[in-house]
Amino acid sequence: MLDSSSVLTGAAIDERYYHDLAGKALAKPRAVVRPRTTEQVSDFLRLCHHEKVSVTTQGGMTGLVRGALPNAKEVVLSTERMNAVEEVNTSAGVAIAQAGAPLQRIQERVEQEGHTFPLDLAERGSCTIGGNISTNAGGNRVIRYGMTRDLILGLEVVTADGTVLHGLRKYLKSNTGIDLKQQLFIGSEGILGW
Ligand SMILES: Cc1cc2nc3c(=O)[nH]c(=O)nc-3n(C[C@H](O)[C@H](O)[C@H](O)COP(=O)(O)OP(=O)(O)OC[C@H]3O[C@@H](n4cnc5c(N)ncnc54)[C@H](O)[C@@H]3O)c2cc1C
Repeated sequence: MLDSSSVLTGAAIDERYYHDLAGKALAKPRAVVRPRTTEQVSDFLRLCHHEKVSVTTQGGMTGLVRGALPNAKEVVLSTERMNAVEEVNTSAGVAIAQAGAPLQRIQERVEQEGHTFPLDLAERGSCTIGGNISTNAGGNRVIRYGMTRDLILGLEVVTADGTVLHGLRKYLKSNTGIDLKQQLFIGSEGILGW
């Protein structure tokens, strides 16, 4: 369940949730919800689905095509409280991070172990890995290491009806059928899953 500090309404909604990159104000959303766990995301999306309320997902709000900007009828789902790097496994070359982890935090955590997370772009301190995945960001090392989609082994995804898809794999091999992370989620700007 979401606690009251996770939900902002009215005057408690800070301007940063509804201003674009140029600082221009848009309509204030109905509410801003800031979950801490996958279960809270699932509960929240299931409720919105039932009540037919539209949701806009926000990471670091650095995207250039305005996909994270809400309208007045929508509720913002912010990943700002799900920002941890949960695991770095150097022998496997795998890091697991929550959706709202800033890219720079992941880079620095991996560098502490003597490795490199190759995705890099100028907004590294503000953008989140969830936003990078959702936009399939390229960044300034793309020619050598590929797009974000080339760096992702697995995803845990919550769909609009609250269903949790457990696809957090730590290895390349998967012959279980359609690769949903590549076919549906990476690069879809948050319209098909969170
Ligand atoms: C200065 C600057 C430099 C940049 N350089 C590059 C570059 O070199 N290469 C490049 O490809 N792009 C670049 N970008 C754009 C880049 O794609 C985004 O900045 C970044 O990837 C978005 O991350 P974010 O967390 O800010 O996402 P947001 O802006 O918050 O969101 C972007 C989109 O993703 C969705 N979203 C966010 N989080 C999630 C989530 N957890 N689940 C589902 N959907 C989600 C949002 O709804 C929105 O549609 C740059 C942008 C800036 C401002």
